[in-house]
Amino acid sequence: MLTVSRVVHASVLLDFGGARILTDPWLSERRFYYQGEQRSCATAADLPELAGIVISHEHYDHCDLDALAAYPDKSVPFAVAKGIAPRVRAAGFPNVVELDPWESTRLGPVEVIATPASHGVTEITFVLRADGHTVYFGADTRRVDELDEIAQRYSEVDLALLPINGLRIRPLGNRQEVMDATEAAEFTSVLRPRLAVPIHYAFTGGPVGDRLMVKTVRNRPDLYRDATGDLAPDTTVHVLPPGQLLAVEH
Ligand SMILES: [Zn+2]
Repeated sequence: MLTVSRVVHASVLLDFGGARILTDPWLSERRFYYQGEQRSCATAADLPELAGIVISHEHYDHCDLDALAAYPDKSVPFAVAKGIAPRVRAAGFPNVVELDPWESTRLGPVEVIATPASHGVTEITFVLRADGHTVYFGADTRRVDELDEIAQRYSEVDLALLPINGLRIRPLGNRQEVMDATEAAEFTSVLRPRLAVPIHYAFTGGPVGDRLMVKTVRNRPDLYRDATGDLAPDTTVHVLPPGQLLAVEH
C-alpha cells in the first residue's frame, strides 16, 4: 500500500506500507517566500515518524533545515544533492548521504535513486521504490532532455510528482528555472506514470516579490490536468490540497 499527501509546495509525505519518506521540507515562511496554501504540518514536531528525508537542492523552499531541526529523531537518514550534507549535519542530523544522478542508497526499506535535474543550482530528482511501488519526485527541475533517461530506466512508474509553475527569475534575464504545466504534461507522456500529482504551484513572493523577482503562473494545477488529458491521456491526474491523502493501488 502506497499513500501520498502534500505537506505544502514540493514537500510531500510518501508512505510505503508504513515506511514514510518526506521530500524537500519547507515548514516556515519568510519575506518574499510565501507558501500560498495551508501547510498541513505546523512544525517539524508535528511530522509523523519518518524512514527518511530526501532533499533535491539547497533553495530555502526545498531545504528548510532551520525549521526541520525541531524534528525529534536526530538519527533519521537523509539522501541529498551534492553540497548539502554539511548543512544537514549542522542542523543536528548526522546520518546523511550525498548523491549524484544514478547513485542510490536506502532509507529504511525504501530504495532511493538520484536522477537528473536542471535548475539554477546543483539539483537532483529522485526515484523511490519500496513495497512493489515506484515513485518519481520531480522537485522543481526544468524540462530537459536528460529526464528522458528516467523513463528509459523505469518503465513502470506508479506515481509522478511534477512541478508546474514555470518559475522565471527577472533579475536573471527572465530565465526559466522550473518546468511549466505544458512541459510537465509533455514529460508525463514520456514517463507514462499511472498517476500524477502536480506540485510547486501555489508559492508566491508576495506583491513586491512577484513584481520584482519572479514571474510565474500561480495556483493553476488545472492547466497541468488539462494538458495531461491531451498529451498523456493514460495517466490519471490528482490535484491534492495539502493534507489530503491519496491511496495508490496496485
Ligand atoms: Zn529551487
